[in-house]
Amino acid sequence: MEYYSGNIGKLIEALSGLPGIGAKTAARLAFHIIGMPEEQVRQLAEAMIDAKEKIHYCETCFTLTDDTQCPICRNPGRNHKMIMVVETTRDLAAYEKTGKYEGVYHVLHGAISPMLGIGPNEIKIRELLERLKQDVEEVIIATNSSLEGETTAMYISKLIKPIGIKVSRIASGVPVGGDLENIDEVTLLRALEGRTQL
Ligand code: ZN
Repeated sequence: MEYYSGNIGKLIEALSGLPGIGAKTAARLAFHIIGMPEEQVRQLAEAMIDAKEKIHYCETCFTLTDDTQCPICRNPGRNHKMIMVVETTRDLAAYEKTGKYEGVYHVLHGAISPMLGIGPNEIKIRELLERLKQDVEEVIIATNSSLEGETTAMYISKLIKPIGIKVSRIASGVPVGGDLENIDEVTLLRALEGRTQL
C-alpha cells in the first residue's frame, strides 16, 4: 500500500478496512472508483451516507429499517403472535427469502458471549420480554448454533418459560457455528419445521 500516496492511498486504506477486502482487492476497487464517472461516484458515496444516516431500528422488532416500523411489523397479514428471535437483520433476511415464514421477528443484534464481554443487557433481550406482554403464542429461537447462539437460546428460554408462552428452538441441521445467512433455504425451512419445544 506504501506504493500509493496521498488520496489514492487513503481510499485504498479505507476500503481495506471493510470485511473480506484484502489489500489487493482494495487497490483494485480504488482504481475502479477513480475510473468511474464522477456522478456515479457521488451516487455511491451518497448511498453509503444515506444508509448510515437514515436507517435505524424498527421500534417493534429492532431490525434495520428506513421507517419507525419495518414493513414486516406493519403488515397486518403476518402472524403477530409468533415471534422468531434472530441474531441479526441478515438472519431475518435469510428466513424472509424462504417466503414460508408468516410470523414476525425480533432482532437481538448479537448473542451472549462472556468471552467478548457481551451480556444479556448488551443485546435486545429486555425489549423482547417487553413485547411478550402483548398477545404472543410462540417464540421461536433461531439464534445461530454457535456456542454464543446456544447460550443465548438457553438464557431466553429460561426467561420466557415461566411466563407460560410456548418457546421452541429451530432444529439442528443448521451446522454448528454456521451463520444462518450462509445456509440454503431448504435447510432453513427444515430447521424451522423441525423445531422442538423447549
Ligand atoms: Zn419490525
